Amino acid sequence: MDEKSFARTETDPEHLANEVATLRLLLEVQEATALDQAARAERAAEELRLQAAQLAQQAHLVQQVVDASTDCVLVLDANWVVTYLNSQARAELASGNGLIGTTLLDSFLGLLDDDFIVRYRRVMATRHSEIFESFHKPRGKWYSVNASPVGDGIGIFFVDITDRRRHEEALRKTEKLAAVGRLASSISHEINNPLESVVNLLYLIETASGESINDIKNYASIAAAELARVSHIVTQTLKFHRQSMNATETRMAEILEGVVSLFQGRVATRDVRLSRRYTQDDKVVCFAGDLRQVFANLIGNALDATPDRGRIWIRTRASRDWKTGVPGLRVLVADNGCGMSPATQKSLFEPFFTTKPATGTGLGLWVSEEIVRNHQGAIRVRSTEAVPPESHHPGRLHLNGTVFSVFFPVVD
Ligand code: ADP
Ligand code: MG
Repeated sequence: MDEKSFARTETDPEHLANEVATLRLLLEVQEATALDQAARAERAAEELRLQAAQLAQQAHLVQQVVDASTDCVLVLDANWVVTYLNSQARAELASGNGLIGTTLLDSFLGLLDDDFIVRYRRVMATRHSEIFESFHKPRGKWYSVNASPVGDGIGIFFVDITDRRRHEEALRKTEKLAAVGRLASSISHEINNPLESVVNLLYLIETASGESINDIKNYASIAAAELARVSHIVTQTLKFHRQSMNATETRMAEILEGVVSLFQGRVATRDVRLSRRYTQDDKVVCFAGDLRQVFANLIGNALDATPDRGRIWIRTRASRDWKTGVPGLRVLVADNGCGMSPATQKSLFEPFFTTKPATGTGLGLWVSEEIVRNHQGAIRVRSTEAVPPESHHPGRLHLNGTVFSVFFPVVD
């Protein structure tokens, strides 16, 4: 193609018109694409705005939930800096909002005594939650605390349980009084009988005429023995209330015999065979008054469960802890009474659980378990329920009854 023809073609109006049409078409397509893209971007932006709003709403909701919670919530980052407090926590901790951004260890040392700090450190290090109740001395308050890993720090959820603790303490005291109250009929029986015989002996002495002085001396010494029995019962009863502040070394047999003497009346009227066997080496360092309460409850429960002419066994022996192998003393209180259903066995240590609607408080074993725990001991039960005679398998021996086993470790 020569130059001329080229130029001609380039400027050819028909050609130019074609070109313009093509370009226009292109432009239109591009315009449509751009519009479409703009619309899409707009939609995406709208979606993001919506998502952001939703997230904000959710965050607000979570905030409201956390604020509405009756628990105090406090969040610390990995450097122990307080990053969040809900409104309960702000109210509970006088310094409130001012805590945000401060380091827990600096600002809280006055607030959290060792037990709390030790546990928080452990959660921070192990990343495992800890749930506990502890007394905070400076505030004079009990707290129930759940410390859990949150992010790379920890969240502390806590609630003031001082009132509940006080109620429990009142229950414990009430149960202590009730324990002796339940024994009242047995005790009055135990006191009445000797007093009646003293009255009779005094009458004999008063009206004596033909008796020798030896006979009269004999009446007097029987009366003295009877009064000694009364005095023994009164002393044992009083021991329930007297609480020494310190643990003392006591023979377990002494504690058990003291309790048994208060039950003698009930044992006799019910014609229950009570057998005791004590090991010689049975000294424990304990709060004897508390242990009396434990065994009064176990023996009382055994008596409640046994039919007339039933049997109760009380044994002590040197033993070892089932789990740790630590040496100590084991006390068994067993009966051949009605036994317990599996459901009862599951709940018997819960407060207010009782199968004795008229006479039970359901607090005996709850208190007992706590007392044993305070002595670093453990209490276990094995029980087989009595089956009605018609469902007995012929030729098969059915033994029913309950064994409570209480273990106290030897402490130096
Ligand atoms: P309470 O004696 O006031 O009912 P406890 O806490 O002492 O409360 O006992 C709780 C429940 O455990 C009793 O109501 C009873 O059902 C069951 N229990 C305890 N000891 C025995 C036992 N030796 N034989 C059968 N059941 C028992
Ligand atoms: Mg009881």
